[in-house]
Amino acid sequence: MSVLHIQTPLIESRALSAWLQRPVWLKLENTQPSGSFKLRGIGHACQWHVRHGATGLVSSSGGNAGLAVAYAGRKLGVPVTVVVPETASERAKELIRMEEASVIVQGAAWDQAHRYAQTLASASRPLIHPFDDPLLWEGHASLVDEVAHAGLHPDLLVCAVGGGGLLQGMFTGLDRNAWHATAVLAVETEGAASFGAALQAGHPVTLPAMKTIANSLASARVCDAVVRSALSHTVRSALVSDAQALGACQRFAHDHRILVEPACGAALAALYETPEAVGNARTVLVVVCGGVGIGQYAAQHPVAP
Ligand SMILES: *Cc1c(COP(=O)(O)O)cnc(C)c1O
Repeated sequence: MSVLHIQTPLIESRALSAWLQRPVWLKLENTQPSGSFKLRGIGHACQWHVRHGATGLVSSSGGNAGLAVAYAGRKLGVPVTVVVPETASERAKELIRMEEASVIVQGAAWDQAHRYAQTLASASRPLIHPFDDPLLWEGHASLVDEVAHAGLHPDLLVCAVGGGGLLQGMFTGLDRNAWHATAVLAVETEGAASFGAALQAGHPVTLPAMKTIANSLASARVCDAVVRSALSHTVRSALVSDAQALGACQRFAHDHRILVEPACGAALAALYETPEAVGNARTVLVVVCGGVGIGQYAAQHPVAP
């Protein structure tokens, strides 16, 4: 078997290009079979483990990471157990079960679910971390490879940051394509600004609480590796409000007829709301990270006609 993720479409956004007065390209990770970019890194990690003898897989995420592990396990023919916290939505659990994984609800928040998942894991049944794993970063980096292969060379890459796995993957991809001049705009919601805080402090910091509608960004601490990498790359932090992230989801649905979750809306909001954030970049690439967490939001915020 080759890889579990698909090569996603790369399209120019006429709406964002007109808005920012320069070409803006979208890498449509929402079209991955698991609904988000997570499948790139997680698919790669799961495949690696199965090739090295794993007969089962464990995940601790009630979101897009858990769904990606479930999808990968089904494709690889190994059983998957996903431990989700009590906060996981019914829809998320349903989607994970549709991938034939078993769901265990344990703990009030991700930390507790993760600790319980660790007790289930073993050498033959590894726990796939949602963001802090070099195998994930290597897989995520394939996104940059595809853009390079398509002949596009952006000088600004825009992506959302939760635990920093995606961003670290983008750094890995920039390095291996020798895109030394490509800057990165790393976007978080104000209530989940763990990367912004780490960038300011110069080292990872643990925030006391997460308060954001963008669940997939609600990581109180980013991985150490991404803070180290930030020192050797041109990266700026941008913060948007929850309302701006939601507004961007609506505007993006209107512009492109594509529905994404608020975590992805955050990255888009940085462009819609603060066009000056692109600086003097000539060509912009946005990682439309996707996400399946759109159900309640879509019901509460009907798309404007
Ligand atoms: C996981 C996720 C993120 C954040 O990725 P990290 O690797 O945790 O930084 C952003 N958007 C979506 C849709 C995600 O699933």
